[in-house]
Amino acid sequence: MNHQLIERAAGDILKSKKTIAFTGAGISVESGIPDFRSAEGLWQKYDPEEYAHIHAFHSNPDKVWRMLKDMFTLVMTAKPNPAHIGLAELERMGLLSSVITQNVDGLHQAAGNKNVIEFHGTHRTLSCLTCAKTVDGTSLKMEDLPARCPHCLSLLKPDVVFFGEPIPWQAQAYSFKESKSCSAVLVVGTSAIVYPAASIPIMAKEQGATVIEINMEPTPLTGSVSDYLISGSAGKIIPAIVEEVKRRGGKKAEILQS
Ligand code: NAD
Ligand code: ZN
Repeated sequence: MNHQLIERAAGDILKSKKTIAFTGAGISVESGIPDFRSAEGLWQKYDPEEYAHIHAFHSNPDKVWRMLKDMFTLVMTAKPNPAHIGLAELERMGLLSSVITQNVDGLHQAAGNKNVIEFHGTHRTLSCLTCAKTVDGTSLKMEDLPARCPHCLSLLKPDVVFFGEPIPWQAQAYSFKESKSCSAVLVVGTSAIVYPAASIPIMAKEQGATVIEINMEPTPLTGSVSDYLISGSAGKIIPAIVEEVKRRGGKKAEILQS
C-alpha cells in the first residue's frame, strides 16, 4: 500500500467541500461476492451477457432463476467488510455526502451508510412483470426460491437492473446531481466500463472534482479521468484513509468526537 497516496487521499477528503463515493462489485469481493472479472465464482458458471440480460428473463425465467438463486444465497449471507464500514464512518464524520453504488447487495446500508443511491437497483424487493405486485425480498427464505408472485404465481423479477433495462430515473437524476456538485469522488472497485454509471466520475471531473481511484488494477479512468490510483484491496485502503483522516483530526471529525 502506498502511504503517500493514502495521505494524499486523506488530505483531499479533508479539504473537499463535498465528497461522494462511487462503488462497484470490487468493494464486495472481500465480503465473498465475486465481481464479473474474478477468475472463479458465480460469473464463470453464468455468463452475465447471457443470464443478466432482460431478454433472457423474458424468454426463459426458470433458467435465469438458477443464477439468481445462487446470487441470492451469496447476498443473503454476505456481511459488510472493512471497506464498506470505512465509508460508513466517513459519512458519520460528515465527510461523505453519498454513496452511489452499482451493487445490488445492500452492504453499504448494512454497514451503516444512510445516503446510498442504488444505480442498478436492489435485491431487497422483487416485482411481478405480469400483475405489477411488489414483494419484500428480505423475508424470503431459500426454500421460497425461485420466488413466485403471491397473486398470479408468475416468477418474480428482483428489482435489479438487468442489461437492456433502463436505470431507475430517480437514482440517475440524484447521482448526476451529486456528481456535478461534488469536489472529490472516491471511485472504488469498479471496472468503469458499464454506462451510464461510468459517466459519474467523468462528470465530476468535468466540474473540477478530484477523482481518487481505489482498485486492484488500472481501469479506463486511470491516468485520464482519475487524478491518481491507489492500487490494492479496498478493504485495506479505505480503513487506512479513514485512520489518516482521524489522525489529522479533520474539522468535522473533531466536532463529532468532542
Ligand atoms: P466489475 O466486475 O466489472 O469490476 C470490478 C472491479 O473491481 C475490477 O476493476 C477489479 O479490478 C476491482 N476489484 C476486485 N476486487 C477488488 C478489491 N478487493 N478491492 C478493490 N478493487 C477490486 O464490476 P462493476 O464495475 O461494478 O460492473 C459490474 C456490474 O455488475 C455492476 O453494474 C453491478 O451492478 C453488477 N454486479 C454487482 C455485484 C454486487 O452487487 N456485489 C456483484 C457482481 C456484479
Ligand atoms: Zn403477479
